[in-house]
Amino acid sequence: MPRKSDTSHEMLDIIMSVGEDGILQSELWKKMNADSREGSRTIIRLEKKGLIERKKELHEGRWTYRVFAKRKLSTIESILNIPCAACDLEIRCSEAGSVSPDKCHELTQWILDLERKN
Ligand code: SF4
Repeated sequence: MPRKSDTSHEMLDIIMSVGEDGILQSELWKKMNADSREGSRTIIRLEKKGLIERKKELHEGRWTYRVFAKRKLSTIESILNIPCAACDLEIRCSEAGSVSPDKCHELTQWILDLERKN
């Protein structure tokens, strides 16, 4: 029997891989070879952690849920302009150093811009 975290990871991977269209719960159970009881338990865990959201949907005359990932997969395009790639201070930059990512205005600004676009 797979561990809870393995099942959660597998489910989250599937949900993230379908992108913005989301996936019906019944399709998700099929892809995971899970029954609805097992699937529901796992999906509730992911929902409580804030990793997914469910929207009610009428499908073939029955109410069900469509599931969406709250996190999106990263793309190469999304990190192409990261300031660290062309930074003269990069060699001295570290978490414990006087130059560090959490004190860096350029990196903070880049992250905020990225958030605004998403
Ligand atoms: S976090 Fe800032 S200082 Fe560090 S490498 Fe990136 S841009 Fe340069």
